[in-house]
Amino acid sequence: MFLENSINDMPRKGWIEVIAGSMFSGKTEELIRRLKRVEISKQKVEIFKPQIDTRYSEDEVVSHDANTIRSTPVSSPMNILLLANDIDVVGIDEAQFFDNGLVEVCNKLANSGIRVIVAGLDMDFQGNPFGPIPALMAIAEYVTKVHAICMRCGNLAHFSHRLSDADKLVLLGEKNEYEPLCRNCYNKAVKEQKIKKNESS
Ligand code: ZN
Repeated sequence: MFLENSINDMPRKGWIEVIAGSMFSGKTEELIRRLKRVEISKQKVEIFKPQIDTRYSEDEVVSHDANTIRSTPVSSPMNILLLANDIDVVGIDEAQFFDNGLVEVCNKLANSGIRVIVAGLDMDFQGNPFGPIPALMAIAEYVTKVHAICMRCGNLAHFSHRLSDADKLVLLGEKNEYEPLCRNCYNKAVKEQKIKKNESS
């Protein structure tokens, strides 16, 4: 379990935490857990998410188990800089949908003394590193990779396998569109889909 640095008399310093993993791995739940502890400690927190993620609610970070916390949708990472004045902790959810400008923004926030907690998908449905998450994992002080459970064999899963054939990269995360799979089951599933596609064409 991730535990925060203890607060001491040293001058306030910022840092970056990344919570990365597949769909259904509990990323948002872990982000919410950390942010609720921040609120208990009476620090000022602001939460942002990309405007694109409007699955359930316009102004809340919503995890799959409906544990919610208020957030602000922003169209670009630069807006986070503008809105993070006088804040102790910045949370960012669904960070994979932001452009790479988010990397510089997180560095700037941390350099100015802010604790930055970023949650996002580390791989897209094809198993490729997703958006700014790989770079954020590189520059972060702390990286937590969370795992789902493989729907086919019960092992730890870190792939988000898409069940439908759509090729569009940004498909918002509905439960019936994806299944978390381990490496073995993912490779098997991709092979099966390819054979099915060839048979139908
Ligand atoms: Zn499996």
